[in-house]
Order: sequence, then structure tokens, then C-alpha cells
Amino acid sequence: MYRIAVLPGDGIGPEVIEEGLKVLKAVEEKYGLRFDIKKYPFGGEAIDKYGEPYPEETRNGCLSSDAVLLGAVGGPKWDGLEGDKRPEAGLLALRKSLGVYANLRPAVLYPSLKEVSPLKNELLENGLDILVVRELIGGIYFGPKGTEALEYGFRAYDTEVYETQEIERIAVIAFEAALRRRKKITSVDKANVLESSRLWRKTVEEVAKRYPEVELNHMYVDNCAMQLVKNPFQFDVILTNNMFGDILSDEAAQIVGSIGILPSASLRGDRVGLYEPIHGSAPDIAGKKIANPLATILSVAMMLQYSFGEEEAAQDIRKAVERALEEGFRTADLGKGIVLSTEEMGDKVVEYIKGVIF
Ligand code: NAD
Repeated sequence: MYRIAVLPGDGIGPEVIEEGLKVLKAVEEKYGLRFDIKKYPFGGEAIDKYGEPYPEETRNGCLSSDAVLLGAVGGPKWDGLEGDKRPEAGLLALRKSLGVYANLRPAVLYPSLKEVSPLKNELLENGLDILVVRELIGGIYFGPKGTEALEYGFRAYDTEVYETQEIERIAVIAFEAALRRRKKITSVDKANVLESSRLWRKTVEEVAKRYPEVELNHMYVDNCAMQLVKNPFQFDVILTNNMFGDILSDEAAQIVGSIGILPSASLRGDRVGLYEPIHGSAPDIAGKKIANPLATILSVAMMLQYSFGEEEAAQDIRKAVERALEEGFRTADLGKGIVLSTEEMGDKVVEYIKGVIF
């Protein structure tokens, strides 16, 4: 029995989560698995109900689960609230409370979607598969910060701080992931300028000694931003800190096309994990039944793989998604093809999983 806390959230969140749960049900039946699924309010929905984005009921539910599946949060209704009262503040609190320090964002370009990539390269025929492993709960986003008044104006600062142990544990996640892939890691830093990056590089090199079968190289972040556009095929696993990972993973996401197909997993080195599409609540299309559910469906596949070790079921979902795309089925964001609604795309993936369509 796997316990899953589901946080549908706001905007298109509940719409895409519905399809993710449909797929989960299909693999539950096919593989004889058992999921105990409980839904909790989160984000704007929770603010309306309890006055805060991550209420106690939701926190307790998440902390007592094996995995958390999240839709998305936010929307214009809550944009006027102060920083720590906004739906997005709930996201940081959720990640911190679960202690999920490793954010895994696979950027996969399916050959059938090569026309939606902004890159023009004949090599895209073969697809593209990069995994960004980003440190998630340390670095400059969480270091000492403040704003001080000066005689003229202000001084504001944020501080990049990393300790050996924080770098070690994220590096281990990246090396373990690389072992299951093409066994190549590019560690991205700014070691020519930053002290914290020099510790990052030294620590990653130490961890690498435990993984002789994995090839490690280092790259400065500015060069990496360039190389991702110039020759993304050189990358397998990109390992980097919180801020560089935030920026580079969005760049990698754009290279493979629509934000509507990219999943993510946030882990802490044991069974517990947080799984969510990388997109937001898309208020511009909420309620129109056109949201792409594939990012959420692929997040469900990551949950099966990383939290439950159900590799076969995870692979089945990925194959069903790939097949639906190969057959020309599209949601509106994916351009030309047989355009389906959110619900119809979810049904299509379920049909392929069940083997109803051959
Ligand atoms: P967004 O990702 O919600 O939308 C960006 C664009 O992509 C929009 O045009 C949207 O229609 C489109 N899009 C997004 N997901 C899609 C899908 N599944 N199918 C088809 N099209 C899709 O980003 P935004 O507009 O900058 O933010 C909207 C709200 O979401 C804000 O309140 C923001 O703070 C919040 N947000 C939440 C998360 C999260 O919950 N993890 C992440 C990012 C943004």
C-alpha cells in the first residue's frame, strides 16, 4: 500500500491532477498495486479556506505520506497578498517541510515533437534527453538576506552558502541517476569567481571517486547556458546549485518545446518525494479544458519510479505518452495534429496503458 497526498491546487492544477489520478488508477489495476490517495487543500484554495497556503491539515497529510503529487498554485485572485501569505510561499514551505533537497527535472524531446523545439538541428530527429539535478533547499535562496537603510538609498543582499554535506548529498543523487542513464555528469558552477563554487567543485570531485564508471566534467554556468543552445546533445546529467539550476532547467525545458509536457521530482534520498509538473496554474487557460495533462501524467511515472520502485509501471506510462504523441494526438499547446481536450488526452494515455488500442 502506497500512501499518496494529492494537492490539486489552483487554476489548471485540479484539471491536470484529475488526469494524473486516472492514469494512476489504470496502473493500479494493471499491476495489482494499491494506492491510498487523500486530497488536501493547498495554495490559493487553502488561503480561501484557512487563510494560509500550507495549513496544518495539509502539512500533516503530506508528512505522513510516502509521496506528494501536486498540481500547481497561484492566480490573479491572490496576487495582491503579501509575500509570505501568497500561494507560492506554500511551495517553499512544502519543499522545506518535506526536506526534499534534490530537484530532478528531465528535459526530454520526443522525436515526434521536434517541430515544437525552437532549435533547428537535424540531430533532433533522434530526440534529446537531459536530466537536470538541482539542489533545492540551500544556497542563495535560503542564505542570510536583508535590506538596510543607507544615508542614500538602501543596501540589499542575499548570500550563497553551501556546506560540504549539502553538496555531497545532492551529488550522490546525481551520480546514482547517472548510473541508470548514459553515465555522464556535467557539474555546473562559477568556480572562477565564487568561493562556494570552489567548495562545490572539490566536493563533487570527492564524491566522483566513489563512482569510477561515471564520467565527470565541470562547466562554468555562463558557458553551460550557451552550450545548452549550441549543442544540447553533449549533456546527460547536469548537476548544479539552487539558483543556477532554477535558470538552466527552464532553459532546458524550453529547448524541448512545451512546458505542458515536463514533469519533476523532488527527493531527499529515501522513499518520500514530491512530484509536480514544472508549469504553473496557467490562469489564462483554466476552465477551458485545453490544459496539457502530460506533465502531470509523467510526474506520476516519476513517482512510481523514485518513490515506489515500480519501474515497469513507470515505463509503461512513458511509453503510452510517447505512443499518443507518435500517433499525432496533441493538446492545443503542442501545435498541429489531432487536437484533444485535457480529459481526452488523459483517456488516450489510459487506453494505451490498458492495451485497448494496438
Ligand atoms: P504558467 O506556467 O502557469 O503559464 C505560462 C504559459 O504556459 C501560459 O501561457 C499557460 O497557458 C501555458 N501553460 C502552462 N501550463 C500549461 C499546460 N499544462 N498546458 C498548456 N499550456 C500551459 O506560468 P505563469 O503564467 O508565469 O504563472 C501563472 C501562475 O502560476 C502564477 O500565479 C505563478 O506564480 C504560478 N506558478 C506556480 C508554479 C507551481 O505551482 N509550481 C510554478 C510556476 C508558476
